[in-house]
Order: sequence, then structure tokens, then C-alpha cells
Amino acid sequence: MKMEQVSTNCFAVLNEKNLVCDANSGLINLGGGVVIDTQSDLPHGRQMIELFGKVWPGMPKRVINTHEDADHVWGNQLFEGAEIIAHRTAAERMKHVADPKESQQLLKAANGFLSSLLLKVLHPGALAIARQLHQDYNFDGIKLALPTTVFDERHVLNLDGTEVQLIFVGPCHQAGDTIVHVPKEGVVFAGDVLFRLCTPMGWTGSYANWIKGLDLIISLEPKTVVPGHGPVCGIEGVREMKAYLEYLRDESRRCFEQRLTSLEAAKKIDLGPYAAWRAPARLYLNVERAYREFRNEPEDKPWDSAKAFDSIYQVAKSRGIAVEF
Ligand SMILES: [Zn+2]
Repeated sequence: MKMEQVSTNCFAVLNEKNLVCDANSGLINLGGGVVIDTQSDLPHGRQMIELFGKVWPGMPKRVINTHEDADHVWGNQLFEGAEIIAHRTAAERMKHVADPKESQQLLKAANGFLSSLLLKVLHPGALAIARQLHQDYNFDGIKLALPTTVFDERHVLNLDGTEVQLIFVGPCHQAGDTIVHVPKEGVVFAGDVLFRLCTPMGWTGSYANWIKGLDLIISLEPKTVVPGHGPVCGIEGVREMKAYLEYLRDESRRCFEQRLTSLEAAKKIDLGPYAAWRAPARLYLNVERAYREFRNEPEDKPWDSAKAFDSIYQVAKSRGIAVEF
């Protein structure tokens, strides 16, 4: 994990491995301090606090959660007494989407002899992701600290005269997707609207709205964009991600018309330049999401996550690439 200064008063903490759960955090070091997203577990949250602690005068009074996913909110409890700000739907959904019990149980099952044998037979993908997570993460002790302030379309903070805009753009990747714009410093904290040099994973939302969210970031003309996952970039990173989504939607459409299943399509679609991104087999999720749109299914249709991870596992095996999530 490393800290990077991205403008006069904005900083980022980055998890350089760039696999699942390796989410970034941001800091706006003004007006008592604002932390954006709080990491996937307590050890990572504490390390983030230690890194930002090199530049801030004291623990920040505000936290922003860019959306409801676990990897962005599981360090919230470390900011005792802070105002936690999120979009209304993110706050509502967090209780279910980021309930730590399931992940805690999965890691325990993957470590137990019999339960891991059973997992291997029933859900090889779920076992593989649990083993990957076990290398870097420990979900013990996590108690969800929910947002204390919610907003609908926009929320504006004034930090010592510097304006910060929270703009709701969801659902792109998740229902509560919010970007954080600091116009004076030319910085956007994009949350998971932007994945950089790793394959995006979308859960709730539509291609059209995700592309609209990326277009909005481009229209703000930031000098620097901090993605939810992956290295800091400029507008080029946003454009690349938009091109990926457009490519994936077109390819998925072709396969859909040829009556391939989403799993068959995910095994077959040429990865092109995106083969070099981390965890390319995660494209299964994007293909399946496109298929759901073609079938006019609801944007918030629930996922069977064990099944989804099994499919990603099968795509990696079939392509002869590393099984990574
Ligand atoms: Zn994330």
C-alpha cells in the first residue's frame, strides 16, 4: 500500500496489487479532513490511517462512501464520531450488500479441511476467491458503521473555502455510485465508476448509465482522476474504460444473437488490449450484465455470487490464464 499526493490538498492511498478488495482511499486535507472510502478490512484501514496520518493534522471529521460495497466501507468503524456521508440508496443497501457475515464465513470455510473439500466440489470459484482473499485480508472484527448523512442528487461541502461536490451518478457499478469532485484542485475521486488497468466488475446498473457517468467525469475536465481500483490517471483512463464497456457490449450483443450463453461468450470474446488488465476473466460479469439488458431484466436483479465466481473460474481455466479475481 502506498500514498500518493495528487494535488495541493488531495491524496490517495493505493493497493498496488489491484485485485478484488484492493480498493483505493482518498483524502481531502482541508476543513478538518475528508476521507473517501475506508478499505476492506481493519488492518488495511489502519494502514491507510497511518499513511494519511503523515500529512493530516488529526483524524478527519468526515468520511465519504462512494457506494455501498464492502471494500469501500469496512474501515468506517475506525473513524469514531465522524460524519459518514453517502447517497441514500448506498446507505439503505449497505446493511445487506456489505454484511460482513458471509465473507467471514467463507474465509473460515475455505480454511476448514472438510468444508474446503466440499467447497471445492460445489463451488471451485468461491474456494479460489476465498483462498486469494485469505492471502491479504482478514475480515475479523468488522462491524458495519452506517452513513450518518445521506443525500439525493448532490451534496456540497465547503472546506476552508474550497468547494467539494458529491455527485450521484448511479447505478453504474452499484446502486449508490457517487463521484467526488474538487474543482479548484482539478481532482475527481471516481469510486468504482472507474476501474483502472483491471477488469471492471459491475453489479447493479446499466451500460448506458455507466457510460453516462464516465462522460460526466470527462466533461469536468479533471487533471487527475483517482479510480476506485488501480493507479491514478488522467482523462485517458476514463476514455479507456468507456471504450472497454462499449467493446464488451457490442461483442456480447454479437454472441447473444448467435445464441451463445453468457458463459460461452465470456470464454470466446477476444480480449484484445484488455488481456493485459488484471483479472481479465472477470469479463464474465460484464457479459452476463449485457445479456440481462438484452433480455430486459431489471437492473438490480440479484446475483448468485458463488455461481458468478465459479463462472469467472471456468473462464480463466478455459482460456488457460491465471485464476484471479
Ligand atoms: Zn470496489
